[in-house]
Amino acid sequence: MSELTSLTIAEARQKLRAKEITAIELTEAYISAIDAANGRLNAYVKTTPDLARLMARKSDERIAAGKAGELEGIPLGIKDLFATVGVHTQACSHILDGFEPRYESTVTQNLWDDGAVMLGKLNMDEFAMGSSNETSYYGPVINPWRAGGSNQQLVPGGSSGGSAAAVAAHLCAGATATDTGGSIRQPAAFTGTVGIKPTYGRCSRWGTVAFASSLDQAGPIARDVRDAAILLKSMASTDAKDTTSVDLPVPDYEAVLGQSLKGMKIGIPNEYRVDGMPEEIETLWRRGIAWLKDAGAEIVDISLPHTKYALPAYYIVAPAEASSNLARYDGVRYGLRVDGKDIVDMYEKTRAAGFGQEVKRRIMIGTYVLSAGYYDAYYIRAQKVRTLIKRDFELAFDAGVDAILTPATPSSAFGIADENLAADPVKMYLNDIFTVTVNMAGLPGIAVPAGLDQKGLPLGLQLIGKAFDEETLFKTAYVIEQAAGKFTPAKWW
Ligand code: GLN
Repeated sequence: MSELTSLTIAEARQKLRAKEITAIELTEAYISAIDAANGRLNAYVKTTPDLARLMARKSDERIAAGKAGELEGIPLGIKDLFATVGVHTQACSHILDGFEPRYESTVTQNLWDDGAVMLGKLNMDEFAMGSSNETSYYGPVINPWRAGGSNQQLVPGGSSGGSAAAVAAHLCAGATATDTGGSIRQPAAFTGTVGIKPTYGRCSRWGTVAFASSLDQAGPIARDVRDAAILLKSMASTDAKDTTSVDLPVPDYEAVLGQSLKGMKIGIPNEYRVDGMPEEIETLWRRGIAWLKDAGAEIVDISLPHTKYALPAYYIVAPAEASSNLARYDGVRYGLRVDGKDIVDMYEKTRAAGFGQEVKRRIMIGTYVLSAGYYDAYYIRAQKVRTLIKRDFELAFDAGVDAILTPATPSSAFGIADENLAADPVKMYLNDIFTVTVNMAGLPGIAVPAGLDQKGLPLGLQLIGKAFDEETLFKTAYVIEQAAGKFTPAKWW
């Protein structure tokens, strides 16, 4: 049955509709694949095989009755950040120990309404804080990719590391993910998958555990551009329960795939050439430029002068919002409780035991930058920088640029427990250097695989678009995918 798990969503959809396969067969194939692989990859923190079978049977009934939804019978993995009724929703943190919500996130509800099947909850960095999936309470996820001739275990990126690894290893047909500073695009780049962070407001944040509310956006990680387009169409919606969700129709993203790039202007920002970036990334970028030129796009140099301030400003804004959002985990309402001699003691003991080191670091930074006397110097200043970053992009788009091409990450996947990174959290933060600007500006960004490095590991390119113009990103990413081909890891797990 292994060939069933190699079908893309588009292929499986076609075979399900033609009744060549059934949803229950497809679901059973994924359940077997997960059982065989998860011990090695640790992509899922909770599997829901009985629920998956129930949903798949209902899908088969709807298909038989001619009532199939857009994602009917498609088995998906869900990042542990999305609330799912009665099912493990712990943001991979110990503090949410045993939490099973009584409500469903809008994004997952949209997927189930379209007929998708839930395989389980995917591993991630604790509260989505991290770039390697190593801050998870449930242990690291192992990247299905390995360097040629090496058995070294690599990280899949983060925070959506479980989503990216599960998609790359064919342990789900597609996955939900979230991106606050790069958590969809960086793991997609590290695993040879496609990830899109849509415009802030495109997907509802309701029922998604909050990290930094002004930056958080949900999006899909998928095997190819078409599957990402199919998934985003279902995930996105206007939602009265999230006041930042935008009241705009959701286009048919698939319809733009294959359209010409003639007349389009692609901006190349000089500021995305950073010190110490491997030559191969530069080469990949040049190759991407050539592909888009060949497809009829005009390439123009642009300047985004405030880029260098994006990372430091992000690491003020994101922890500030996190410190506020995470104040609710006090041992009273959710998850873990460690008893104390009085209520304050109970709060302190619960939070000390429940949060991991990186989360504590963010809470401390956030509390510091929001405290009296430092608020103006740090938080307000970072917000001003944020406005300047946004303006850089606006000026480029006003000058006629349709999309911006950059590398997705400054390196390929690195090793688990890399000593260099463990010793200095700022080095880990540098992973997001090309992605955080996009969250700060609220714009859409897509990461698409564009080649392999000398070690045989995938590298991605990023396209950044105008607000609510995800269509241009899909159309352009599709051209890159056609030129670069698709990348699948050799199976060892
Ligand atoms: N790696 C970044 C961080 O640790 C971004 C995480 C994310 O996008 N959720 O904050």
